[in-house]
Amino acid sequence: MPDGRQLAPRGIPARFSESAASFSRPTDDIMILKYTIGNLEPGDFYAKLRGGVVLLDKAERMKMTDMLQKMGLDVVGARKALDCNNLQHCIRCHQNYWERDNWLTSCQPRHAEPRPVLTKNGHHVGNEYTCCRKTYAVNVVLPAVCLNRHTTRPEFGFDDGIQRNCC
Ligand SMILES: [Zn+2]
Ligand SMILES: [Zn+2]
Ligand SMILES: [Zn+2]
Repeated sequence: MPDGRQLAPRGIPARFSESAASFSRPTDDIMILKYTIGNLEPGDFYAKLRGGVVLLDKAERMKMTDMLQKMGLDVVGARKALDCNNLQHCIRCHQNYWERDNWLTSCQPRHAEPRPVLTKNGHHVGNEYTCCRKTYAVNVVLPAVCLNRHTTRPEFGFDDGIQRNCC
């Protein structure tokens, strides 16, 4: 755990003192965070942040929750999800689910057949899944399933014209 002293801004080194008169430089602690985050691929950052939660002790996890809330993330929604004891039924994949287990990749029904995307001249340049409204270039491997959150809301159901009956 870093203590308060490590986070305190350091004095400006002598070699910067002349230019420091004309502009104010962010403190080293801000620069270190911005440089580190600014040099990570967003997906890498997300994976490290999510995977790293288990490496923290309880006090660190509580601190992290406070930090994320301060940075504008919805922590209150997670609390509500934890407290929700209604088993719900997803209108897309027709599985029952608990909201506490509902993430961006939890719902994985098979796609309907993709619709070819053609140019004006009839060249096949992509494939569109109307089920989840995603388009892929012709030269990429198409994922077998739609990835999404489970939902109970009909307005987020599939609009590809294929009847998927509720069980
Ligand atoms: Zn799909
Ligand atoms: Zn689902
Ligand atoms: Zn169903």
